[in-house]
Amino acid sequence: MIRENVEKVRQRIFNACAKAGIDPSKITLLCVTKGRSIREIQEAVNSGVNQLGENRIQEALEKYKLIPQARWQMVGHLQSNKAKDAVKIFDLIHSVDTVALAGEINRQAAKINKVQDILLEVKTSPEDSKFGFKETGLFDACVEIAKLKQVAVKGLMTIAPALDSPEQARPYFSRLRQLRDKINPNWLLSMGMSDDFEIAIEEGADIVRLGRIIFENNV
Ligand SMILES: *Cc1c(COP(=O)(O)O)cnc(C)c1O
Repeated sequence: MIRENVEKVRQRIFNACAKAGIDPSKITLLCVTKGRSIREIQEAVNSGVNQLGENRIQEALEKYKLIPQARWQMVGHLQSNKAKDAVKIFDLIHSVDTVALAGEINRQAAKINKVQDILLEVKTSPEDSKFGFKETGLFDACVEIAKLKQVAVKGLMTIAPALDSPEQARPYFSRLRQLRDKINPNWLLSMGMSDDFEIAIEEGADIVRLGRIIFENNV
């Protein structure tokens, strides 16, 4: 089932790109593995997925040990006291939501001689999301974070609120793109989940974060 789901989702990504006139090779499929067993994750990896996302550090540490050949990324809220573990295993941290957290990641990355790639999480729907920079604080935060030598900001991430239809997510994705275009047009956009990734692709997503559609039936 997982293999079929991966194939279906690749086809849907391909179709969304065709519709929007986008080169499908630009899109990264990040497979979000929270709550999934090693067997399930291994099946996804065997189907050609090699970028895996987790949203709890403890779960990620355990799974990383068993599937170290994949490229692991952090998509969930990260507490500063977990930055030390995070820099050891993650290629990319999507969910940096304060300057203080970026500072701690910088400090821990320095200890292991790493430049940690990060994305800044933005609250595009202030009433619905718990974590992320408010738009008003984002520019100042970027200036501060740009001073840190051991973190490299690669782009922006957002989580659209739960909505009745995928189309309703469009304004949040389009807002993230506008912010990116203003701050740094070369940055990547991490946006779109199982219910709304096609809309996210149309709005310029570079990374789509997919969980249920890969691991569950009939999503
Ligand atoms: C769980 C999760 C996803 C994947 O969501 P699905 O609806 O299962 O595709 C993406 N991003 C984050 C931050 C998540 O926590």
